[in-house]
Amino acid sequence: MNEINLFNDKKDCCGCGACMNICPKSAITMEEDEYGFVYPKINTEQCVECGACKRVCGYQNVPEKHSAKAVYAAAAKNDSILKKSASGGAFAVLAEKLIDRGGIVYGAAMPYENGKLEPKHIRIDNKDDIVKLQGSKYVQSDTGFVFQQVRKDLQSGKSVMFSGTPCQIAGLKKFLNKDYDGLLLVEIICHGVPSKKLFQDFIESYGKQLGGTIEEFYFRDKSKGQGYLTRVSYRKNNSLNNKYSSSLSYMHFFSKSSILRLNCYSCPFASGKRIADIALGDFWGFHEEYPDYKESQGLSNGKGISCVIVNTEKGIGAIEECKDSFVLMDSEFEKAARHNDQLSKPSKYSPQRETVLDLYKSSGYKAVEKYYKKKFRKDIIKYRISGILPKGFKRKIKQLIGKKRNRNRVKLFRY
Ligand SMILES: Cc1cc2nc3c(=O)[nH]c(=O)nc-3n(C[C@H](O)[C@H](O)[C@H](O)COP(=O)(O)OP(=O)(O)OC[C@H]3O[C@@H](n4cnc5c(N)ncnc54)[C@H](O)[C@@H]3O)c2cc1C
Ligand code: SF4
Ligand code: SF4
Ligand code: SF4
Repeated sequence: MNEINLFNDKKDCCGCGACMNICPKSAITMEEDEYGFVYPKINTEQCVECGACKRVCGYQNVPEKHSAKAVYAAAAKNDSILKKSASGGAFAVLAEKLIDRGGIVYGAAMPYENGKLEPKHIRIDNKDDIVKLQGSKYVQSDTGFVFQQVRKDLQSGKSVMFSGTPCQIAGLKKFLNKDYDGLLLVEIICHGVPSKKLFQDFIESYGKQLGGTIEEFYFRDKSKGQGYLTRVSYRKNNSLNNKYSSSLSYMHFFSKSSILRLNCYSCPFASGKRIADIALGDFWGFHEEYPDYKESQGLSNGKGISCVIVNTEKGIGAIEECKDSFVLMDSEFEKAARHNDQLSKPSKYSPQRETVLDLYKSSGYKAVEKYYKKKFRKDIIKYRISGILPKGFKRKIKQLIGKKRNRNRVKLFRY
């Protein structure tokens, strides 16, 4: 027999871990490459060449995708949910409802463990823990062996909501290999992911700049209004301090698609047809699409508006069940897609990617930081100004500059 080869080219693996979860001989481990991206590695001494890992790959054999059955602009009515969510809080509203019914929710958290922030998928069954999953973590979340846990929960008759990137959903679907009535799949609209290692090295380097240790990191903090501010909590001299920023190197390279996983540039899930029951993203451009809509009616890009794309009957049922907790407005796929590239095509490969990742490989994150400060001075100033301007003032400037230029400017900060 031939040795099993999971992929020939790195662009054919998203690192979802479905192959590791299915292997009956525990012969697969996820190993970091020179940039920190994880790929499966087979221990040939343990492998019995059953081929299960090949069959379970949802990235190379994409499961059936669906066209949208309904599209909404939505925001949680509960203000505290809205504040802690990156967008309109649609995820937390769905999660609350499921847990109220005795269900289990899986999603990406970022606990501080052994001196590091660990982006990883966790299982929760308590409403107090929803906050751990709220907020976007713009980095690859480690799924570990959660697919096995999901199967156990479903087999014992529990209702489960699994949320993650579309490629993680595809991996889980192939791993389960059957539909369960109790399973609700929720994908995020996805721009792509940097590696966990690069993120952790950035955090370490940023902590050193601040003279402390970072224990929490929020990619989009709303405590100073909806914007693109990051917030860290860092420990210095035994006290916890907050630091806000709108000009971090990591966020710049993420938004410019310069540090994404290789396969993200040809992602088969960045399209109008979706893999999960419900897809969640930001409803960018809402006020441009609905110029007569008044913020007093309940939806405001200033506070966060979710784009909710419902793709299956199960998804329709789930939204129906929690519609009282939402400000929900019927919309159209084209209106959302016009402002959200990842609903039609993958992120464009950045010519800077090689430079940034090679610097990282040869000289660590410090060198990446130095390169950013030297090369992107103008952008740094732009981000800083944008970060401190009041919302109303920014809107006025946008109106003055006109829609077209405004669209280009805003793109700088859309993830
Ligand atoms: C890497 C990444 C790229 C994204 N790119 C886009 C984009 O291009 N366009 C767009 O419209 N929206 C994008 N989003 C989604 C957007 O940022 C919001 O997460 C989404 O709108 C849901 O918002 P919410 O307010 O409903 O929930 P929130 O509370 O903000 O988000 C929580 C949900 O996001 C999931 N999640 C958070 N981080 C991760 C992660 N690293 N991996 C897997 N799941 C995660 C959680 O499991 C949970 O389901 C992206 C999110 C991530 C994590
Ligand atoms: S199952 Fe996932 S991790 Fe394994 S080869 Fe396929 S994409 Fe890569
Ligand atoms: S072929 Fe079978 S035993 Fe070998 S790594 Fe794949 S799943 Fe494991
Ligand atoms: S862009 Fe595609 S491949 Fe990359 S993390 Fe998102 S869903 Fe997965």
